[in-house]
Amino acid sequence: MADPIRAVKGMNDLLPPDSARWQWFEDTVRALMRRYAYQFVRTPIVEHTPLFVRGLGEVTDIVEKEMYSFVDSMNGDPLTLRPEGTAGVVRAMVEHNALYDGGKRLFYIGPMFRHERPQRGRYRQFHQVGVEALGYAGPEVDAEVILMCRALWQDLGLGEVRLDINSLGQPDERRAHRAALIAHFEAHRDQLDADAQRRLHSNPLRILDTKNPAMQPLVEAAPQLMSYLGEASLKHFDALKAMLDAAGQPFRVNPRLVRGMDYYNLTVFEWVTDKLGAQGTICGGGRYDGLMELVGGKPAPGIGWGMGIERVLDLVQQIGSAPPAPVPDAYAIVPDAAAMPVAVRTVEALRAAGLAVQLHAGGGSMKSQFKKADASGARHALIFGGDELARAEVAVKPLRDATAAQVSQPLADPAAWAASLRNA
Ligand code: ATP
Ligand code: MG
Repeated sequence: MADPIRAVKGMNDLLPPDSARWQWFEDTVRALMRRYAYQFVRTPIVEHTPLFVRGLGEVTDIVEKEMYSFVDSMNGDPLTLRPEGTAGVVRAMVEHNALYDGGKRLFYIGPMFRHERPQRGRYRQFHQVGVEALGYAGPEVDAEVILMCRALWQDLGLGEVRLDINSLGQPDERRAHRAALIAHFEAHRDQLDADAQRRLHSNPLRILDTKNPAMQPLVEAAPQLMSYLGEASLKHFDALKAMLDAAGQPFRVNPRLVRGMDYYNLTVFEWVTDKLGAQGTICGGGRYDGLMELVGGKPAPGIGWGMGIERVLDLVQQIGSAPPAPVPDAYAIVPDAAAMPVAVRTVEALRAAGLAVQLHAGGGSMKSQFKKADASGARHALIFGGDELARAEVAVKPLRDATAAQVSQPLADPAAWAASLRNA
């Protein structure tokens, strides 16, 4: 045999039975989005590299070291597998002038790609659900996107997840803070790691986002952006806090929360759990009022979040309430191949009536077919035996309820008794 070809490191297959939990998660998300009136969008997985370089910022972890970039061999275009969803959605809105008739509330679900060191909760292909509310400047939309996460935690049976919020103010406020930051870090140059040294003058705010534990004391002591915010920024933040209070959502103001992309302003937030080890942030987002303009559109405000599905489902597995994987209503046992045409016709009619039916394939003894029926989890076996067929009937045997009796049903009109299989 040839050497087995394996999946790319950090990129995972999703197989049964785990895939059922994913489908339940996505169904739950879609139902949530309907309740909040967010509409589905899908943008390409590949975008022109400058979208991310310009949109996320040149001096960010993602752009500096995590992007899967390549050159299109046909035309030489620099392309990148999307590392996050916001830039692509904003690009699409600009390209299609989609805000011409007012704001849009959107959501997406799909794979993202980052060249990171794979570990629990950190993969090279991972999946996000995200929302983007575009065209709304007011803090009520900040509250809305935050509270819809809480609603999702409830739907997933996750209970309380910790909410951290912060305000990054506006670009001019950040400039004043930036000067103070540079002065602080310059005074402790010897304690800066290589990344921080490099970013000291290009993007000192990013130093606050460091994952290096050795840098934490220095970061803790850094001047806080909050004290550089002007009246309008503080008012926006206070309004958000009042709405979260009114909705009974606890939060912690974390002045060191800066997020990994440059496009944020005003509100930023993260949902964090202590149950996933080092990768405890399950969702992060914020306002990005400058991004539309940055990718070449008319200025328009925006806010959104991205949620790591792998991390959320890891948490669901620990403490959530994923329902059991769905099982068929019935498993069709066909002891003699001669009965197959009738069996096929009948199970098709049952499926058309809305039942989930698995048809035995591959022959074998009655006993071995019953074993398969049992293993399928189906609630009923349909037995297309010779005697039954001679009477134009099929035997229906309950598999999960020892007190229920086997009955015969007419083959003539399966739709008439289909419901009895589902509800019994
Ligand atoms: P982290 O600080 O853990 O690197 P991040 O700030 O880079 O996260 P975001 O860009 O805000 O993450 O993405 C939003 C969410 O996507 C994260 O909160 C996390 O749940 C998830 N996520 C990010 N990177 C990965 C990854 N490599 N593998 C799995 N999930 C990820
Ligand atoms: Mg990261």
